[in-house]
Amino acid sequence: MAQPRSELSNATGARAATRADLHTPLTSVLGDRQAAVFHRAFGHRTVGDLLAHYPRRYAHRGELTNMADLPPGEEVTIVAEVRHVESRAMRQRRGSILEVTISDGTGVVTLTFFNQAWRKNELYPGRRGIFAGKVNRYKNTLQFTHPDYELFDDDSGIGASSAGTSGSGSPVTTESEAAAWQSRPIPIYPATSTLASWKIAKVIREEVLPGFGPIDDPVPRPVAVEHGLEPLSVALYDIHLPEDDADWRRARDTLRFHEAFVLQAALLQERERLRETAATARMPVPDGYAARFDTALPFELTDDQQAVGEQIRHDLAQAVPMNRLVQGEVGSGKTVVALRAMLQVADNGGQSVFLAPTEVLASQHLRSIAAALGPDLAAELMPTLITGRLTASERKKALLRAVSGQAQIVVGTHALLNDKVSFYDLGLVVVDEQHRFGVEQRDVLRGKAASPPHQLVLTATPIPRTVAMTVFGDLDVSTIAELPAGRQKIESFVVPLAEHPRWEDRIWTRAAEEIAAGHQVFVVCPAITPKEREDAAADGLSAEELEALEAERPIATVEQTLAAVQRNPALSGARIAALHGRMSADEKDAVMRAFAAGALDLVVATTVIEVGVDVPNASAMIVLDADRFGVSQLHQLRGRVGRGGVPGLCLFVTAAEAGSLARERVDAVAATLDGFALAEADLELRREGDVLGSDQSGGRSSLRLLRVARDGEVIEQARADAASLLADDPRLTEHPALAAAIADRLTDASRDFLARA
Ligand code: ADP
Ligand code: MG
Repeated sequence: MAQPRSELSNATGARAATRADLHTPLTSVLGDRQAAVFHRAFGHRTVGDLLAHYPRRYAHRGELTNMADLPPGEEVTIVAEVRHVESRAMRQRRGSILEVTISDGTGVVTLTFFNQAWRKNELYPGRRGIFAGKVNRYKNTLQFTHPDYELFDDDSGIGASSAGTSGSGSPVTTESEAAAWQSRPIPIYPATSTLASWKIAKVIREEVLPGFGPIDDPVPRPVAVEHGLEPLSVALYDIHLPEDDADWRRARDTLRFHEAFVLQAALLQERERLRETAATARMPVPDGYAARFDTALPFELTDDQQAVGEQIRHDLAQAVPMNRLVQGEVGSGKTVVALRAMLQVADNGGQSVFLAPTEVLASQHLRSIAAALGPDLAAELMPTLITGRLTASERKKALLRAVSGQAQIVVGTHALLNDKVSFYDLGLVVVDEQHRFGVEQRDVLRGKAASPPHQLVLTATPIPRTVAMTVFGDLDVSTIAELPAGRQKIESFVVPLAEHPRWEDRIWTRAAEEIAAGHQVFVVCPAITPKEREDAAADGLSAEELEALEAERPIATVEQTLAAVQRNPALSGARIAALHGRMSADEKDAVMRAFAAGALDLVVATTVIEVGVDVPNASAMIVLDADRFGVSQLHQLRGRVGRGGVPGLCLFVTAAEAGSLARERVDAVAATLDGFALAEADLELRREGDVLGSDQSGGRSSLRLLRVARDGEVIEQARADAASLLADDPRLTEHPALAAAIADRLTDASRDFLARA
């Protein structure tokens, strides 16, 4: 089994008559049944899909630790034997805990799995293997929560594991063989209950790689040589079957460059294509809508708003589509900037759409746009809402206004992407809070215009240039750094319940004080109902989160918090409501409207209010179980207060222990209001989890190894190389492998998009 690579590449795959390439269907290599298992588990269809399922990490026998001296809090790898297995129901909620005691003779460690009772089929007493993970000390015992492991084959040959068939596919099949593999890194794959890591390794090693390649390399040889890269086929061997760490490192560097190169080539080609189709220039009109709007503005634009506005004015007047990202802190006044752009387009008879990520935000934007325009302009421009929740007759009316061109400004959600929605003359697409919309979705909108519309993306999450380049293709970036004058300061505090459980009461007295002063309060919870909380616990939680669960610390829910604040004597008489995603759009809208109008004092909400909600009189943001939220989410939430003439107060309530990673995130947000600094802190804090091949948030991405936030240099390099290649060969006629790789990317992207739609 432990064949050297030279033999492997000569061997022939059992079922593969001809050599496989990246497009070969898995069925023809693995057979229908096994291919179906991979398809169900990971959506793999082709050999290329499976080979892009890279190991998440590599375990080493060489780095084994004795249990006797395991350092708590660190990642370790141990060889041990299962001693004892116990499965029990959790006490106060649905679900089970499987506890597996293992020992190496020097000490004992307990493995803990939540809702993965099936593992007892392979982790039974006497079973030996390699276990890797982070050690925690919990109630005087050492624990691994959801560790990675590779089991040795039973010497006796009895009791093959649930996932296994005869002969374990682990590189380590017996202990004696284990010794032979001493120095060889053991690939550990992202796995599921039906497909264990060792099984994936076995299939790749024995059934896929032997019949695979050589394949054409999308990166031309001179470029590869210049950067010291391996040929693609070799890199794919080495990432799955490294003989030493240098192998997989080189392979990973190669594959990472490949991703960057193909992506940049695709983006650059797309940019050229867009430039070839002229946009409609929308010139500024002296006494037009935009000018009237500016004259009536109740405040002075900040210098940054003016400068960015000037750039946009210039861009819109070109016959090349504008493609601009405006980034600026929450409350920096991006919406006004976007509105002025829409008016310039309207001055030329063009329509604009404003895409918002949620229904609540879409209707809020519509209201604030209508208010900002004032009655006269609003009557002429007819800002119109299109969301999925309109009644049939409202919808008909809205669609008519859009297609007739009567509505010069259309605000909406994804519903705007529907094929029934069409426009008379779509000139500008504004996307609010980019991260909720994919490139493909914007392409759908673009398709609704006769010529490519101009495009403006607004975001409060600072984006490094390389990210902007990668995620958006070729965006120009403008920044609004200064906040409008008179913006109130926001004070942030961490309320550490771990150290001071009593402070919980103080939170509600503080809320009552704000209300007594005539202000309003947001309370945000991570979950809506207790049931949802259990679902959230089912899988994929961090060690800390699981630990918290184990300690049976309840997570704040909207339902329970609502009940608690309604009962709280300090808040008696306060007008309180809930706001969350399970409510109908009308209900949500009614609550937001009432809150904005000052008819409610306090809302208990989920993150539906995360982006863009604008209630100037809201002074306090109380985030419960703040450690459940990400850094940028917390920052966004905080941005909901301090927007009017009222200073903001933000309380991040957490029971996370001081010094834990979860707590550090919360502390970091409380420590600064600077979104740029926070974005950096976030990267720092995430570095630990940012391991090889871990999935990008936001679903399946064709970027497996490339991290846009980290790999700026690789991206810049790849972009330069791709640009010079395209300059000589714009249609890639001389580079069919690259053209094919780009085509594959697009297929993947549209497949993902369709899966989500
Ligand atoms: P963003 O979308 O960047 O979070 P908004 O455009 O929603 O910010 O602006 C937040 C609030 O500040 C709005 O009520 C808006 O009317 C107001 N505003 C915008 N620009 C200015 C300015 N230059 N001076 C005073 N208030 C402003
Ligand atoms: Mg906004």
